[in-house]
Amino acid sequence: MPVHGADMPQERLELRITDAVDPGPDTLLNAGKSAQAPDEQARLIAVEQVRLLYLNTATAQVVTLFNGMVLAAVQSTALGHRPALIWMALIGMVGAVRIAMTLAYKKTKLDVANAVYWRNLFFFGAGLAGAAWGAAGFLLFPPDSFAHQLFLAFVLGGMMAGAIGTMVSWFPAFAIFSILTALPAVARFLMHGDSMHYAMAWMILLFLVAMLLIGHRVYRTITETFRLRFENKALIDDLTRAKKRTDRLNNELMAAQNGLRRSNEELENRVAERTSELSRANEELEKFAYVASHDLQEPLRTVANFSQLLEERYTDKLDKDGREFIGYIHSGARHMRTLVDDLLAYSRLGAKALSLSEVDCEKVLCEVLEDLKMAVQESAAEIAHDPLPVLRADAGQIRQLFANLLSNAIKFRSAEPLRIHVGATRQGDDWIFSVRDNGIGINPKYYTQIFGMYERLHSMSQYPGTGIGLALCKKIVEEYHGRIWVDSEEGRGSAFHFSIPCAGQ
Ligand code: ADP
Repeated sequence: MPVHGADMPQERLELRITDAVDPGPDTLLNAGKSAQAPDEQARLIAVEQVRLLYLNTATAQVVTLFNGMVLAAVQSTALGHRPALIWMALIGMVGAVRIAMTLAYKKTKLDVANAVYWRNLFFFGAGLAGAAWGAAGFLLFPPDSFAHQLFLAFVLGGMMAGAIGTMVSWFPAFAIFSILTALPAVARFLMHGDSMHYAMAWMILLFLVAMLLIGHRVYRTITETFRLRFENKALIDDLTRAKKRTDRLNNELMAAQNGLRRSNEELENRVAERTSELSRANEELEKFAYVASHDLQEPLRTVANFSQLLEERYTDKLDKDGREFIGYIHSGARHMRTLVDDLLAYSRLGAKALSLSEVDCEKVLCEVLEDLKMAVQESAAEIAHDPLPVLRADAGQIRQLFANLLSNAIKFRSAEPLRIHVGATRQGDDWIFSVRDNGIGINPKYYTQIFGMYERLHSMSQYPGTGIGLALCKKIVEEYHGRIWVDSEEGRGSAFHFSIPCAGQ
C-alpha cells in the first residue's frame, strides 16, 4: 500500500520549506526596497508632467487669442490699426503652431519613450508664445499714453500669472515663456528714460522674479507629488507581490503539512497493525510453548522414573558401558525436565493473570534459600541481606526472581569463597533490589545479550543451564513496569539489579 505522504517527493518538500524560510526579494521584509531606479522614476514623472502640460493647452489658446484681441483693440486706439494687426497676425501664427502641436500630441500614445520629445516640443511652443507676447512690449507700446502703457504691463503680467496654471508642471517651459514675455517690456520701459518708467520697468522685473520663484516652488511641489505617488505605487506593488508570495508559500507549507500528517497517520496505522499482528503471533507462540512443555512433562517423568528404576534395580546386571548409558539417559532427562519447567514457567507468565497480595520479600528470600539449601551448603556460600520490604506483588514471581538470581550467583562462583549479598533500597516510587556475588563476572559487552531467551555464555559441560532464567526475570520485572540490569566485570563478581514500583503493578 503506498504511503500517501510519499506522494510528495522529498526533494520538492525540502525545497519548498527552504523557500519558506529564505526571505526572497519579494517578501514582506523587502517590501518597498525594490522601488524604481531613479532613471525609471524620472521617466514616469516626465510622462505625468507632459500629460498635465497638454491638458489645458486648448483652453489656454482660446484665452490667449481673446486676451490678444482685447490688448490689440485697446492699444490700437492709441497706436492705430497697423501695429495691432501685425501683432495679432503674429499671435495667430504662434497660436496655430501650438494648436497643431496639441492636435499631433492628442493623436499619439504618450509613453515613457516619447514623453521627453513632447515635453521639448511644448518648451519650444512656450518659447514661441513668450516671444510673441514679448513682441507686444515693443509693438503695442504707445509712447504718449501712460494709461495704455499701464494696460500693456497689466496684460503681460496677467499672461505670466496665468501661465503658472498651464505651464508650471515643466518649469523650464514656464520660465522661457515668462522671461521672453517680460524682458522686452522691461527694456522698452527703461528706454523711455524717466523715473516713472524706470520704476515701471523695475516693477515688471520684480514681478517676473516673484513669478519665477513661485512657479519654481509650485513645480517642485508637483514633481514631489508625482514622485511620492510612484513610490507609493511601487511600495503597494511590492507589498502585493510579497503577500501573494507569502500566500503561495503558506499554501505550499499547508499542503506539505497535510502530506506529512497523512503519511504520519498511515505510518501509525501500519505500526498499530504490525504491533497487533506481532502480539497475536507472540500469544500464539507462548500458547504453543505452554502446551508443548506441559504435554512433555508426563512422558519426561516416565523416562526419568524408569531410567532411575533401571539404575537402582539393574546396575549389577549391566556392564560398565550399560551403567554409563543409563547415567546419560538419567542426566539428559534431568536437563530436559529443567528446560521444560523453565519453558513452562516462562510461557505461564503471559498466560496467567497476576495474583497480587502483600508479599514479604524477606520471608520469600528465606523460603528460596531453604529450597537452595543443598547448593548453598555445597558451595559454602556466605549469604547476607539488607532488611527487605513488603510489596504488593505476585508472590510466586518474586520467588522466581530471587531463585533464578541466587542460583546463578551460586552456579557461576569462582575459586574464591563465595559471598552473596541481597540488598534493597528505595528510590522515589521504586524499590531497587540487588543480588551481588563475587563470582566469575561478565564481560560488559554481554550486558544486554544475557537477558535474551536461550542466551548463555558457557557450554553445558562448564555450567549446566537452559539460558531461560534471566529472560524469565526480565519478563517478570517488565510486568511490573520495572527494569533489570547488570553491573559486572570478568573475574570481579556481578551485581544484578531490578526495580519494582513500591505500589506493585
Ligand atoms: P542459565 O543460568 O541457565 O545459563 P540464565 O538466563 O540464568 O541462563 O543466564 C544467562 C547467562 O548469563 C548465563 O549462562 C551466564 O553466562 C550469565 N550469568 C547469569 N548470572 C550470572 C552470574 N551471577 N555470574 C556470572 N554470569 C552469570
